[in-house]
Formats: sequence, C-alpha cells, structure tokens
Amino acid sequence: MKPDFQKGNGLVPAIVQDYQTNAVLMLAYVNEEAYEKMLETKETYFYSRSRQELWHKGETSGHFQYIQGMYLDCDKDTLLIIVKQIGVACHTGAYSCFFHEIMPYVTSRNIFHEVYDVIADRKEHPVEKSYTNYLLDQGVDKICKKVGEEASETIIAAKNQDKEELIGEISDLFYHVLVLMYQQGIQVEDIERKLQDRHQVTGNKKDFHQRGDY
Ligand code: AMP
Ligand code: ZN
Ligand code: ZN
Ligand code: ZN
Repeated sequence: MKPDFQKGNGLVPAIVQDYQTNAVLMLAYVNEEAYEKMLETKETYFYSRSRQELWHKGETSGHFQYIQGMYLDCDKDTLLIIVKQIGVACHTGAYSCFFHEIMPYVTSRNIFHEVYDVIADRKEHPVEKSYTNYLLDQGVDKICKKVGEEASETIIAAKNQDKEELIGEISDLFYHVLVLMYQQGIQVEDIERKLQDRHQVTGNKKDFHQRGDY
C-alpha cells in the first residue's frame, strides 16, 4: 500500500500531528522521494513547493520530527504523520502552524469542568441538604480547612500504601479544591493554562500554549 501520487500531480498532502498532545502541527506536501525517505529514516521529509526541492524538516532549524506512526486516508490521497516534535513545528516559532483563529475552538471539557459547573450551579440554584451549598455558605475558612484535611488524608493513604483509599482521598481533595477555586473566582481553564505553561516536554511550546486553547 502506498499513497496515490498520480491524483495530485505527484504530491499528496500530509497532516502532521503531535503524538503527545494530538495537536495538528502543520500541513505539507509529500512526493514519492520524500515518502521513500520517511520510510527509510523515520523522520519527516516533504516537497517544498516554493523552493521546488526535497525538504528535510528541521535541516536548518534543528526542529526535526521523529515519526511515531503514519496513516493513509480512505482513498489514499492524504497522509497523516504522527510525530515527536523537537522544538516547534512552525518556522515562525509557533508550536503549531495553526494559530490564526478564524473560529476559536472552545476548550475541550473533562470531568473537572463538569464538577466545577455543578458547583457553580449549586450557588445559582441552591439544593436542600447539598454539601456543596453547605461549604459555599460556610465560606473560605471552612473550605480551606477541608482542603487541608483532605490533603492530610491523602498523605496518610499514600503512607498506608492503600491505592483504593488514596484514589478516594485524591478525589475528595480535587473536589474541595474545585469548590475553593469557584469560591475564589478561579476557573478550570486558569489552571489548565498554568499547567500547560509549565509543561514543556520537548523544546519551547510556549507560543502554542499561551493561546490557551488546549
Ligand atoms: P526547517 O525545515 O525547520 O529547518 O525549516 C527550513 C525552512 O522550511 C524554513 O525557513 C521555512 O521556509 C520552511 N518551513 C519550516 N517549517 C515550516 C512549516 N511548518 N510550514 C511552512 N514552511 C516551513
Ligand atoms: Zn472516507
Ligand atoms: Zn482522501
Ligand atoms: Zn508555519
């Protein structure tokens, strides 16, 4: 099986994706020579349409892409290349080439967002015998006391080497931290952004993360 180079006059577009973050890094074109080089070296090669030559990604910038996986689409006219990106993908210094926002993408939701939104909803629409309402009514001192307690219980569970207990205590801790965040006007996205900023696996991903959309 190989790409259908005929269809695009010798070139197939290749989508390049980060194997860790799933971010789409760039799109470039591959000719038969670039394709063969990739199979041989497990690094990305493209055909530069502007320079009209074989292009080894990273050859001048050092921002190489190590291929972790490669797929062809249904009709074999498009490649998906999954890579470990050294440094950044874009020659502008951005982590991903796709930083011009036409329709900004809303942060993907996870359980932390779900729980946070329930906490916010309890404030808006109090529920009888709701523990969350109880905490919010008590205020910052009570919430902080609970965060401290759950942190201590987390430590104890870890020292007891009781994994199930530890999972429970960490979950309690996270819940109380979410209540504290809500009470203090901090959003889940604020924490996600900070973690992303501090999370630099390889090279400088700051440009990408500071957009704050992942
Ligand atoms: P590099 O392959 O990273 O050493 O970069 C060499 C040259 O390729 C750059 O000066 C750009 O002209 C071009 N280039 C690199 N990365 C990209 C990209 N993601 N999209 C478009 N052109 C690029
Ligand atoms: Zn299809
Ligand atoms: Zn296709
Ligand atoms: Zn770019």
